[in-house]
Amino acid sequence: MKYVILRDDDTNALTPIDYLDRLYRPFLERGLPVNLATIPNVNTEATHCDGGLELFLMAKTGTTPKTLPIGCNEKLVDYLRSNPCYNIVQHGCRHEFVQGGPEFAHTNRCDIERRLKEGTEFLLDAGFRKPTAFVAPYDQLSRISFQEVSKRFRVLSTGWFELNRLPHSWWPQYVMKKLSRKPHWQVGNTTLLTHPGCHLSYHRRYDTMFDDIKKSLDSRRLTVLVTHWWEYFRDNQADEKFISILHETADYLSKRKDLRVISFDDLTRHNIELN
Ligand SMILES: [Zn+2]
Repeated sequence: MKYVILRDDDTNALTPIDYLDRLYRPFLERGLPVNLATIPNVNTEATHCDGGLELFLMAKTGTTPKTLPIGCNEKLVDYLRSNPCYNIVQHGCRHEFVQGGPEFAHTNRCDIERRLKEGTEFLLDAGFRKPTAFVAPYDQLSRISFQEVSKRFRVLSTGWFELNRLPHSWWPQYVMKKLSRKPHWQVGNTTLLTHPGCHLSYHRRYDTMFDDIKKSLDSRRLTVLVTHWWEYFRDNQADEKFISILHETADYLSKRKDLRVISFDDLTRHNIELN
């Protein structure tokens, strides 16, 4: 059996419900889990590396406060909680830059601990279950962040791993993983997942996107497919072609008998072979 985990990043208190529903209705109707990497207490002034406002803040107005806990948007929380196929994953804490870099790329242990704790508390306060999986903003973690995340979460989903960023005690397992060419691995109680890049992105070619997804599924046992809801609604305009590829993917995934779409939580509940 092959497995797919769909991960959509950057849901926050300003995410329009109708955008998520437009994208994921075909998944929900087919009973396919959608993992939303959710920002617990978003910094509404967050900018990306080019200095522009993050596009996941597109619904911001002149009166939006500087930080906004996910629980502030009761309608969104109700919508997410009423659809059991949505699985909430902790995506950082505020999704902001700290010391000039992504939120979890620095090495101040106290700050990292505080952000991990605060993020989980905001998700719990909103009424979500305690998250078992963590996704760092921009998939960037320092050695200290790897240590602290692995103490608190059963699953870490990121792009790739580099030896010189990992805790030294992880090096033997990492070397084994590299030698065996396995994409996913485990340290202690934490499962560490890589992904093959964001196939579902408007930066990619639309005419080859679906085939690239199929190739990734065929080349490994477990594939994490990463996307971002706001990419489908740039300038508040639905990108119909891009949305149709996502929906085509939902149909394809539901029809393949040798493949199961799972949640990050499923990895902690069932004995699923990673590689
Ligand atoms: Zn993000």
